[in-house]
Amino acid sequence: MARTRREFLKDAAMLAAGLGLGSAPVPRLALALEGLAAQRPGLVWLQGQSCSGCSVSLLNGERPGPAELLTRYFSVWFHPTLSAATGDEALAAVERAVNAGGYLLAVEGAVPLGMPRACTVGQEPLVDLVSRAAARARAVLAVGTCASFGGIPAAATNPTGAAPMGEILAKAGLSVPHLNVPGCPAHPHWIVGTAVLVLHKNDVTVDKEHRPTAFFGRPVHDQCPHFARYERQEFARTPGEDGCLFKLGCQGALTHADCPWRGWNGGTSWCVRGRAPCTGCARPGFARDPAYPFFRLNEGRTA
Ligand code: SF4
Ligand code: SF4
Repeated sequence: MARTRREFLKDAAMLAAGLGLGSAPVPRLALALEGLAAQRPGLVWLQGQSCSGCSVSLLNGERPGPAELLTRYFSVWFHPTLSAATGDEALAAVERAVNAGGYLLAVEGAVPLGMPRACTVGQEPLVDLVSRAAARARAVLAVGTCASFGGIPAAATNPTGAAPMGEILAKAGLSVPHLNVPGCPAHPHWIVGTAVLVLHKNDVTVDKEHRPTAFFGRPVHDQCPHFARYERQEFARTPGEDGCLFKLGCQGALTHADCPWRGWNGGTSWCVRGRAPCTGCARPGFARDPAYPFFRLNEGRTA
């Protein structure tokens, strides 16, 4: 049954609240949702060198939940984890989607550019498939830090030559709109919000790393409730101790994301609130940059 304008406004208000955007963009979001519901654009989701954590994160999303999102506003043409089809049937579904074109291509995981046969779909190296699929997409979403920046598969020595989607698109000479939605995993709001905004007139402001500034505009550190303690140099020296976690390796100052006020798991908590340092999971150098491993050594230690 066709949805009414009031229902779109209600969904838009829930989405805006969930995304932390306030009430101002509700009419614009309602229009975007109405446009999406009318078209139900195809979504093609491919996975490369990933743990599927970003898919799990999406399925944990709320307002709108993944079932509502996927059935009401998108038409899922292929998703390897959700697909009921397997083997040749699944490969045929991918081919049908790529031939049709005009979909939103979401890529989860890095692409083994230096060892193409390390990740294949059927017999086709992933690097070839994502290049073909991106050429016929209306936009490409790199979901998670592995797809956005290389992440854990691209960590030191990087034996498979794991590369992010930006590198793959540049190598293929493609200029399709491309957004990075980092995070290990990416927050469901970041994925949903970016997908809706990019499909509505490509209406997303991005930074030089192709990240939507609505979610990645400010460092974690600047929004952290412990910021004043950092300024007063009130540092926790051992895990569990009260205070700012900088001396325990917190990378909030290097990491752009809105975790402190968005929260995770329905907004109940986030890393620092759970007394774990920010590991910089949404940072371009996460895992990949040898100068910044997951945790710095506590300053009290020498080895
Ligand atoms: S806990 Fe981390 S993010 Fe928060 S103020 Fe300290 S260094 Fe910054
Ligand atoms: S606080 Fe840091 S490590 Fe935790 S989810 Fe946010 S960006 Fe990732």
